[in-house]
Amino acid sequence: ASISVPSTMKGIVIDKTGGTEVLQYKTDIPVPELADGQVLIKNDFIGVNFIDTYFRTGLYPAPRFPYILGREGAGTVVRVSPKGPTYGLKEGDRVAWSGEAAYAEYSANAAARTFQLPPAPSSGSAGVVYPRDAAAALLQGLTALTLIREAHPVQKGDWVLVHAAAGGTGLMLCQLLRAVGARTIGTVSTAAKADLARDAGAEHVIQYGDSALKGDEVKAKVHELTGGKGCAAVFDGVGKATFDLSLECVARKGSVVSFGNASGAVPPVNIMRLAAKNCRLLRPTLFNYLVERDEFEPYVAELLGFLASGALKVRVHDVYPLSEVARAHNDLEGRVSTGKLLLDPSK
Ligand code: NDP
Repeated sequence: ASISVPSTMKGIVIDKTGGTEVLQYKTDIPVPELADGQVLIKNDFIGVNFIDTYFRTGLYPAPRFPYILGREGAGTVVRVSPKGPTYGLKEGDRVAWSGEAAYAEYSANAAARTFQLPPAPSSGSAGVVYPRDAAAALLQGLTALTLIREAHPVQKGDWVLVHAAAGGTGLMLCQLLRAVGARTIGTVSTAAKADLARDAGAEHVIQYGDSALKGDEVKAKVHELTGGKGCAAVFDGVGKATFDLSLECVARKGSVVSFGNASGAVPPVNIMRLAAKNCRLLRPTLFNYLVERDEFEPYVAELLGFLASGALKVRVHDVYPLSEVARAHNDLEGRVSTGKLLLDPSK
């Protein structure tokens, strides 16, 4: 092995669920051993996703304690397991990856979910910066792509409603929907977020408030814009606060795609409510659209292609030192951030 790897590393560990106070920054975590079919990655950037907060609070149960949060990163392969399929990965490869235990300097991850990055495009082209932009785009970009292809295959000219349109996933959805020719209505909480959503491709942006009271106004606006028909698809990552609104804004025979719980989990639903529009209700997760290597590969290639062409631009809200992860979680949960939050494990 040519690249030297230390025996311990910095990382963020939780040993119980709770607020950001349970996030412990440690400097003496053993660097993980490789299982068959895994590679060891030295992370340059770690993506923060809302799902990390669900594991921290216990909304989603952590598989074990102590537990290292984080589901994606990008950096350099420093070890390759001698056994198991390694998909051509070798030491020194620059990669982006999806898996677990990302909030650390080093992560052991399945080679099957670790993807080589192309060389950075020459200057003057789209300006994509690897691996930072790959870390920032992977999970939320793949989510947006699978949602518009598989949850509701969006057609050119479709009206689509995207909640939290200036969030990490929201900005990805707006841009990809523009690329496929959809007509997007975004919802956001502030005027500054409205500008971002519009720049990303939302044709109309509605500012919703924190309270459900504003729901009627949003519904009225959506119906006005769509000639009374509603939207062919509603992509709702906000959850509890917007679920009823989403059902009210969907068109007859449309899809309500509930894919997250930023405001809390959606309570149980009476399926009779779907009869009012003959609509579909889906509750998908990326991790069940993309499981096998051959499912990931075309999507990852397409995502990197969108990045390289400039059709998809990454907005990084901030790069936080790993030791300041609590601030990142507070900004994400506090509706302060726009676009992507990254962690820098060297700090
Ligand atoms: P975002 O960057 O979108 O941040 C969340 C946004 O949700 C906020 O900025 C805020 O925007 C909005 N929001 C509305 N109400 C609340 C609330 N009460 N508390 C906090 N935020 C609120 O985060 P992500 O892009 O990481 O994730 C967005 C959603 O997508 C999450 O629910 C996440 O779980 C889900 N997701 C699901 C995946 C899947 O596979 N199913 C994969 C990836 C993400 P505003 O202020 O404009 O309202």
